[in-house]
Amino acid sequence: MKEANCKICQDSGWVLVKVGEREIARPCQCQQRDAQDSLITNANIPPRFYNVDLRGFKPEKEESSQARAKKAAEKFIADYPGVGGYGLLFQGGTGVGKTRLLCCIANQLIKEKNSDVVYIDWNDLTREMRSGEDAASRDFSNIGQLIQRLARVELLLFDELGASRPSPWVEDNIYFLINRRYNNNRVTLFASNYFDKKIDNQETLSERIGNRIRSRLYEMARSIEILGTDYRQRYLTKENK
Ligand SMILES: [Zn+2]
Repeated sequence: MKEANCKICQDSGWVLVKVGEREIARPCQCQQRDAQDSLITNANIPPRFYNVDLRGFKPEKEESSQARAKKAAEKFIADYPGVGGYGLLFQGGTGVGKTRLLCCIANQLIKEKNSDVVYIDWNDLTREMRSGEDAASRDFSNIGQLIQRLARVELLLFDELGASRPSPWVEDNIYFLINRRYNNNRVTLFASNYFDKKIDNQETLSERIGNRIRSRLYEMARSIEILGTDYRQRYLTKENK
């Protein structure tokens, strides 16, 4: 006979436990492990952020905006799912750790709370959506399925908001997705390189993603600005010119 992978349930997936006088069947612990594995597989987390968690997230300084962002992430994980339908929007220049923060939250919620989580990057999503832009060869089924999945997943992590300029068609689709999540009280975490304030000549987040989407975000997520050294230096140099 072939040896069972799980010595506890002999791969039946069930164990019998005594409750008072009766024996009842409960899912074996190997089933939970499998469920977690598939949550991780389905989460679409970028490989370089597999297994990262907040313990390994080291802000450059205590009392910095990075440290405050880390605290907000810790609090979000601790409170979740009791966050009142409200997510976070990390806004900061490149290299301040926004994607890492999102992935830490995803990994920890999968491990600690079996949450169903999906990570998506703006460029990947808009590339998919653009494939439906040409009305003549439009294939709604793929895009439709993707949007359904992103609209329904318990927690969505939406990275790099505004990384490229959306066409009107793409902007409509993204608004539809975000608005669906808003109406269904689904929590979403966002990250973007763009700020709400006008800094030098950089475009604002609204200018990148449109006012309609930006104002919906105000209803869904608390903004947390992260100013890394990297970022500050870039601007100081510019200002001194
Ligand atoms: Zn088992």
